[in-house]
Amino acid sequence: MASEASKNSCEKVRSTGLTERIEKLLTRMTLEEKVGQMTMVENNSIEPHQVAEFFIGSVLSGGGGNPTPNSPFAWRAMVGAYQRAAQKTRLRIPLIYAVDAVHGHNNVKGAVIFPHNIGLGAAADVDLVARIGRATARELLATGVQWTFAPSVSAPQDLRWGRTYEGYSEDAELVSGLGAALIHGLQADEYRVLACAKHFVADGATEWRGERIDVQQGSTAPPQAGDAATPVDVSLGQWQIDQGNAEIDEATLRALHLPPYRAAIDAGVLSVMVSYSAWKTRKMHGHKYLLTEVLKGELAFEGLVVTDWMAIDQLDPDYYTCVVRSINAGIDMVMAPYDYQRFISALLRAVKCGDVARERIDDALRRILRVKFEFGLFDNPFGDASLLASVGCPEHRELAREAVRKSLVLLQNEGAALPLPKGLSKLVIAGAAADDIGLQCGGWSISWQGEAGAITAGETILAGFCRAASEATAICYSPDGNFAADCRAEVGIVVLHEDPYAEGFGDRADLSLSAADYALVERVRPHCDRLIVILIAGRPRIVTELLPLVDAFVMAWLPGAEGDGLADVLFGDYPFSGTLPFSWPRSMQQIPLSKLHSSDEEPLWEIGAGIMT
Ligand code: BGC
Ligand code: BGC
Repeated sequence: MASEASKNSCEKVRSTGLTERIEKLLTRMTLEEKVGQMTMVENNSIEPHQVAEFFIGSVLSGGGGNPTPNSPFAWRAMVGAYQRAAQKTRLRIPLIYAVDAVHGHNNVKGAVIFPHNIGLGAAADVDLVARIGRATARELLATGVQWTFAPSVSAPQDLRWGRTYEGYSEDAELVSGLGAALIHGLQADEYRVLACAKHFVADGATEWRGERIDVQQGSTAPPQAGDAATPVDVSLGQWQIDQGNAEIDEATLRALHLPPYRAAIDAGVLSVMVSYSAWKTRKMHGHKYLLTEVLKGELAFEGLVVTDWMAIDQLDPDYYTCVVRSINAGIDMVMAPYDYQRFISALLRAVKCGDVARERIDDALRRILRVKFEFGLFDNPFGDASLLASVGCPEHRELAREAVRKSLVLLQNEGAALPLPKGLSKLVIAGAAADDIGLQCGGWSISWQGEAGAITAGETILAGFCRAASEATAICYSPDGNFAADCRAEVGIVVLHEDPYAEGFGDRADLSLSAADYALVERVRPHCDRLIVILIAGRPRIVTELLPLVDAFVMAWLPGAEGDGLADVLFGDYPFSGTLPFSWPRSMQQIPLSKLHSSDEEPLWEIGAGIMT
């Protein structure tokens, strides 16, 4: 009793101290300094001296906004240069540097890349996710970065969405638990970085558009006049779901999409990113009811609300109106990646004209300063160089490998084809993704969209098999499955994959496996007694017709850089323990989930399915 009381009073003293520090600083700030703090710019569009000139509150690296060379040291130097500029300002308010470390510090060459969230949803292990958070925080702080736009706490309801893999699960409870675990890990101990729950709210509920859209996104380079929009392949279905409209009632929004934010706030998250999407056609970035009444009021969120990349620009053709509407809706910091001076002058004008109240600005500043105080930025704005050795260290790689092992889901296993005996005399392996770090990492890996190739350090799936197999086993690898006619093995493994993608570029009308996938399987089949297919993909694909052709089927999601975790489990050193975080549709007729729930036919596999070994 007594100790409880003294703990409470300590907390009170601490928070009073904090409030006083915030208020004291606030009264010393000019309007220009306040508006500067509310501004976030992409590193390719700002020089360090401009951070000082405009009192910029935050700089980010967008996906692929990397220094040259892309090394942990160069990152630290880049981030440090911005921070040193902030230290030269009158009030020395530290900058907070942000990245999308959504599966490790994934832009940095040599950093550890963990499985994407969907794989962690399959592992469903809160302790594992918290440990990933702690490892990621250390790698971030090593480079001076103190804010990551993670976790995504979306509960994707349509597998055609290109961001499905960024969500842990379709199930709000699983998302809540794992999202909170990552936040705990990222913000855990003395090595803590600011987490960000995103994208508020119901980003996972948007509907198929059915109309062509032009996308002005797609580069960290500032756009030049006359730049064409990035080509969008409408025939594939690109940008048909992402940033769209969620036509759901409030009860559904509250039951399915809000709980992860409640859990994130309970876990101590101090930033929330707003979704590009709309709810019942009203864009979230202008949604005062949801941002101010629900998030800040009802959920008592005390941290800062940040926009997505240029997202306020979508509110109205007139930029001034965009600024006024978004700030008045409750946004505290605006990601104005390129033309930040336009944002600053619009907001200054809005305050001077009375279109935005000074109290609203002060509310935003209290939240921004609270974050900077609470994360110790005033005391140590530069992160921790002594952590540089932890970037990509063996301990973090081992953790990623553990995550890979736990994320694998065994969905078919005829004749107990798996685990493989160690004494095989011959193993044939096919598929480009068997020997490609870039393909196994997917989007948000070194670059925004991700790409094939040796993009960073790690182990390919093939390298893992070569190491795990006994010396007696001959391993033949052919990316396209063209083995010599007399090549015959007890076991064949075909690794099928989706090419990397991020955001709306990954929206797809059709999730069926391709003709080329089937052809590859057919080519390998005659060369082996038992055939195992491993699928590397950011979401379930339609595999109903594949199953009769194969003995075993393993879903490996986007495992990240430590591909040797696959051999660990396929050779039986560790068990299959993963379960599906999404229902697996039998056909495209069962997509989106709402259709599956109303269909008379069972899904191919229920959420939670997975054979244990
Ligand atoms: C996207 C960002 C990404 C950036 C860099 C933008 O269009 O919205 O998420 O980081 O491009 O390529
Ligand atoms: C994405 C966000 C990301 C931001 C910054 C946007 O395009 O939607 O998830 O945090 O870019 O890179």
